[in-house]
Amino acid sequence: MKNKKFNTKAIREGYQTTNEQEHSEAIFMTSSFKFDSAEQAAARFSKEAPGNIYARFTNPTVDAFEKKLAALEGAESCVATASGMAAIFAVIMALVKSGDHIVASRNMFGTSIVLLNTVVSKFNVGITYVDLGDLSQWENAIESDTKLFLLETPSNPLGEVVNIKALSKISKANNILLAVDNAILSPALQTPIKLGADIIIHSATKYIDGQGRCLAGAVLGNEEIIEQITTFTRATGPSLSAFNAWIVLKGLDTLSLRMKAHSENAMKIATWLEGQTKINKVHYLGLESHAHHQLAKTQQSGFGGIVSFEVNGGQAAAFKLINATKIFSITANLGDTKSTITHPATTTHGRLSDEDKISANITDGLIRLSIGLEDADDLINDINKGLSV
Ligand SMILES: *Cc1c(COP(=O)(O)O)cnc(C)c1O
Repeated sequence: MKNKKFNTKAIREGYQTTNEQEHSEAIFMTSSFKFDSAEQAAARFSKEAPGNIYARFTNPTVDAFEKKLAALEGAESCVATASGMAAIFAVIMALVKSGDHIVASRNMFGTSIVLLNTVVSKFNVGITYVDLGDLSQWENAIESDTKLFLLETPSNPLGEVVNIKALSKISKANNILLAVDNAILSPALQTPIKLGADIIIHSATKYIDGQGRCLAGAVLGNEEIIEQITTFTRATGPSLSAFNAWIVLKGLDTLSLRMKAHSENAMKIATWLEGQTKINKVHYLGLESHAHHQLAKTQQSGFGGIVSFEVNGGQAAAFKLINATKIFSITANLGDTKSTITHPATTTHGRLSDEDKISANITDGLIRLSIGLEDADDLINDINKGLSV
């Protein structure tokens, strides 16, 4: 499938049909694998012969997911994990040691910040936060022991973007690994390795599953990096289950169709929101009014499903609008076929101090939508109900 296009790879890459000739990929629900002989067991354990041993190491359904995702991201290698957080933790623990330093974007998924501040910081690892899009802040934050740049682009919920190519020049010049969490766009809309990133992190829980059914994650990069991460995951056990691997494997089949539909729906809704007088500001990368629209166009092939906007009247007005919607689910998940609605200031970003909220533009009137695949007109009517109360 090497020279094939995205959709062909998304459907055909990765899986080796067994002797049963099943047409759909099988789920290998087994914790271990048998050997033909004691000699074969010895050869596999000593890595002289390839093959399955135990599901914490490899499993055919998990392998199929890893191969397919690697093909879609343009990465040499991939290791799947039980969740997105397990993927981020594995990257840090495998590649960073005591005494090292990480530069991270301030605008990351809340739990990623909690992981750095409460777990990673216990191991004598220094952490400096910078504003995602400001290249000079990244450069100025570099110390002699800096090993890792860690970020998400675009950020959630405001859709800030960093120029990945330009940042990778800075990281390469300083022998720093650049890790990009690509959960918000997925490889259907952005492939950071092709722009110079060294590592891609995924929460496959989001758009790769795309239907809100399970947790899953992955790390991608060159063989040497993934080997180091695999050494960590095999020894510590955040393996992806075969069943969940099958769900996200089948999710990849329809990923680009879904991402296109999410983006189209989000664009319609963002455009409508921008015309409403009760709304102060709409943040959607697809809108020309977004400060990072032009940059996003140079490195993304679409703008994704996250739209946020600010209502007049602060928290009370935001709560009123959220409670008045009937189709949107009030839940923090994103990347589902079902549209979701949240109030970042009191949920995902609730732990930030008032000062940090102001500097991150998480205002009291801000509402985040993850636009699903329902009809856009119905979603617009649903929001409109909330605006008129
Ligand atoms: C959800 C999310 C994570 C965490 O993934 P889990 O699968 O929930 O552990 C990490 N990064 C981003 C950008 C996310 O949206």
